[in-house]
Parts: sequence; structure tokens; C-alpha cells
Amino acid sequence: MVKEIEYQKHYLSLNRAELIARLERALKPSRFKHVLRVEQTAIKLAKQYDVDLEAASVAGLCHDYAKQRPDEDFITVIKAKKLSKELLDYGNAIWHGVVGAELVKDELGVQNEEILNAIRQHTTGAAYMTPLAQVLYMADYIEPGRDFPGVEKARQLTKADLGLGVAYQTQATLTYLAENSKPIYPKTLETYNAWVPKYRKELKNNG
Ligand code: GDP
Ligand code: FE
Ligand code: FE
Repeated sequence: MVKEIEYQKHYLSLNRAELIARLERALKPSRFKHVLRVEQTAIKLAKQYDVDLEAASVAGLCHDYAKQRPDEDFITVIKAKKLSKELLDYGNAIWHGVVGAELVKDELGVQNEEILNAIRQHTTGAAYMTPLAQVLYMADYIEPGRDFPGVEKARQLTKADLGLGVAYQTQATLTYLAENSKPIYPKTLETYNAWVPKYRKELKNNG
């Protein structure tokens, strides 16, 4: 366990303990424990890759804040904020990050756009991701509670090269979605095109 950090930079008006209390109320216990592990993993990666630790903590804790909200909440936000209508064709898997970031902003008071974008991008990735967004995307995938074929490889590659980890996860997720005939959100394809061919050689050597 990484030592708990004391918030200094006021990415939100709550302190870490208050934020954690809000999350514990918003989430079921297993999801709450997941966000605590994502926070710790994000802080570890942030140390290695020179990303702001407090931003990594806030992003890690808040990334799944909206996961347990009913569909109506997301549909209301999509309409009220005039977000892309294309979002209505998807569901909780896409909404809890892309639309959930709006609830993180409005209900938890996180105003920092880099943190909000990292939350928006945490499920699908994006063609351009800041180091913070890459850290969150990988922390969510490799946190110690994750157990699926390939997770050890993902941990190893992420430790060696953050961008390679992003490419590995993106390729695995797209393959999984296609093999299971799931709808692919266009941004997921953009992420694939931006990251996977770039790491073609390394992915081949590490397949
Ligand atoms: P979690 O919220 O911690 O469970 O993790 P994520 O937010 O990363 O992922 C939620 C789910 O979204 C996972 O099951 C992913 O496989 C799925 N997912 C990722 N990209 C897409 C996509 O483009 N389309 C669909 N339908 N699902 C996706
Ligand atoms: Fe998520
Ligand atoms: Fe998550």
C-alpha cells in the first residue's frame, strides 16, 4: 500500500477522506474496493512515469464513480449537456466514463479538464491520451484484483513501457469485443489505429 497522500492542489474541494466517503456511498463494496486498488496502482505508475500523484489519486478514485447509476441518469445528462447523440446507441459500459465524467464534475466538483478527460477515456482510450490518461487506462486494467488471461503480460509490458501497455490493452479489448460480437464504440477503433500499429513489432515479440 502506497502511503496515503494529502491533497494540496485543490483539484476538488473535498479532501481525500471526504472523497472516499462519497465513493463508498455511491458504489457497491466490490466496486469501491476496485477503485481503491486502481488509485494505488495509478499512484505507483504515476511515480514511475513522472505524472502528478494527486491527479493520479483523484482520477483513480473517481473513474468509476457513475458505474452504478441507472441508465436514465446518463440519458438525462446526454440530453441536458447536448453530448453526441451517437452515445444513445451504447450503454453503461461506455456511459459510465464518457458521461460519468460530467457527474464527477457536477457532483464531486472536479474541475480539472485533464483529470476529467482521463475519466472520459478510461474505458475506450483515445487517439491522444496524456500520460495521466494512459496511467489511468492501464491502472484500471492491471490493478491487483484483475484476473484474466494476459493480465500478467499487461502488467509486465506496462512496467517496461507505458505506451506499449496502452497498445496491448487496446488490441486485447478490440479482439475480445469483435470475437464476442459486441458493438465497438468508434473511439475504441480510433484508439486502436493510433496505438496498435505503432507498437506492431513489440506486440508481435510479446504476443
Ligand atoms: P470497469 O468499469 O472497471 O469494469 O472497466 P472499464 O471501464 O475499462 O470497462 C467496462 C467494460 O467496457 C469492459 O467490459 C470493456 O470490455 C467494455 N468496453 C470497452 N470498450 C468497449 C467498446 O468499444 N464497446 C463496448 N460495447 N464495450 C466496450
Ligand atoms: Fe470503468
Ligand atoms: Fe474501473
